[in-house]
Amino acid sequence: MTDSARFDVLVVGGGMTGSALALGLARQGWQVGLVEAGQLAKITETPSTVTSVDDYEPRVSAISAASKRLLDSLGVWPRLARERHCNYRGMEVWDGDGTGRIRFDAHDLQVPELGSIVENRILVRALFQALAESPVTVLDSSQVIGMTAGGEGRTLTLADGRSLTASLVVAADGGNSRLRQWAGLPTREWDYDQQAIVCTVRTARGHQHTAWQRFSPTGPLAFLPLGCEQPSDEHYCSIVWSQDTSEARRLAALDDDAFTSALESAIEGQLGAIESVSRRFTFPLRQRHAKDYVSGDVVLVGDAAHTIHPLAGQGANLGYSDVRVLLDELAQGRQRGLAPNDPLLLARYQRRRKGDNLTMMAAMEGFKQLFARDELPLRWLRNTGMRWLDRAGPLKQRLAAEAMGLHH
Ligand SMILES: Cc1cc2nc3c(=O)[nH]c(=O)nc-3n(C[C@H](O)[C@H](O)[C@H](O)COP(=O)(O)OP(=O)(O)OC[C@H]3O[C@@H](n4cnc5c(N)ncnc54)[C@H](O)[C@@H]3O)c2cc1C
Repeated sequence: MTDSARFDVLVVGGGMTGSALALGLARQGWQVGLVEAGQLAKITETPSTVTSVDDYEPRVSAISAASKRLLDSLGVWPRLARERHCNYRGMEVWDGDGTGRIRFDAHDLQVPELGSIVENRILVRALFQALAESPVTVLDSSQVIGMTAGGEGRTLTLADGRSLTASLVVAADGGNSRLRQWAGLPTREWDYDQQAIVCTVRTARGHQHTAWQRFSPTGPLAFLPLGCEQPSDEHYCSIVWSQDTSEARRLAALDDDAFTSALESAIEGQLGAIESVSRRFTFPLRQRHAKDYVSGDVVLVGDAAHTIHPLAGQGANLGYSDVRVLLDELAQGRQRGLAPNDPLLLARYQRRRKGDNLTMMAAMEGFKQLFARDELPLRWLRNTGMRWLDRAGPLKQRLAAEAMGLHH
């Protein structure tokens, strides 16, 4: 590529959101460039066989039916289906402080699975392979260090001195998006003073293709089932354990034996003894939402627009809903001969996504508050509510279908 180049759309960020969007836009016939600071081949390296907990990537995503449909339409899901992942058929949620328990079952909902747990690195690799066979110009190991507006659209400056211009720039550069700041798009943020501990464990009992989630006043704990292609693999789970910052730090610093015994008691021995545990990673929990997603010819998608509490594992799915709607608007615009930065198209994208994202974020906040409180009436409400919901067939099914994205 020369020192300067022009595109219809430039996507900044080759994570799971930006890569999918770039693929979809190229399929519609736009000239697309994708800029990623990291080296994609390196980011996506992962051991093909699992012999220990350290072979799994600690960051995983629960991919909903709607996200899977999008990835399928982009030719990415068939690649992923050949890779390590776990289609989970059950979800069990209970209140650690009481008797409330609810179980969702794919069989009852007449669907083959509730969703799929995929390691982020494997998902990004499948996207990267599809990109390599697409007309998208991929510039990895290329950090964007500046953005200016001009008559020709936006110009991005790369760390190596090259510049790229496009009619539309999509910021898919994650939660700490620099592009969002350069575009002057403010955010609203909630800091929970909590951290999530993330790691992989091997358990004595198999996970039964079920996602296990225990709520307690100090925060939720999830055991997400990993790679279940072979029966011997059904003992690995990815852990996301949210705790107040000081407690998370204390737990993460424990040695393996002390940590596994704390974890075993937190999950109430549901999967038997924890036989081994990987290195622990912690990350701060912060919910963040951009007040607007569009500024002139810059538009936000994925974590750049919203980061959400991981308690329902909806982060990647919200990003994929953004991608689906933006692709839909730009396809309609292209058919009508509009430019990709047409203000009406972008305004419609924002309108269609903002409400949904806010609803999900408010629901997460409400959930968190409900479980964080220890007053007797609230505890009673949680337990009675859960037991009632577990028996309330149609409502329970509706809730599950909503969470799986089956209504989209
Ligand atoms: C521990 C953990 C567990 C999670 N679990 C789940 C789950 O179970 N289910 C779920 O749905 N979601 C989950 N999430 C959320 C999910 O990982 C994120 O929502 C998702 O990764 C966001 O994807 P993204 O592509 O928008 O951003 P990112 O994955 O952050 O990607 C942004 C990309 O932009 C690149 N970039 C940044 N700045 C620049 C620049 N200036 N120039 C060029 N490139 C740049 C970065 O290198 C990066 O590759 C979890 C998150 C964490 C941290």
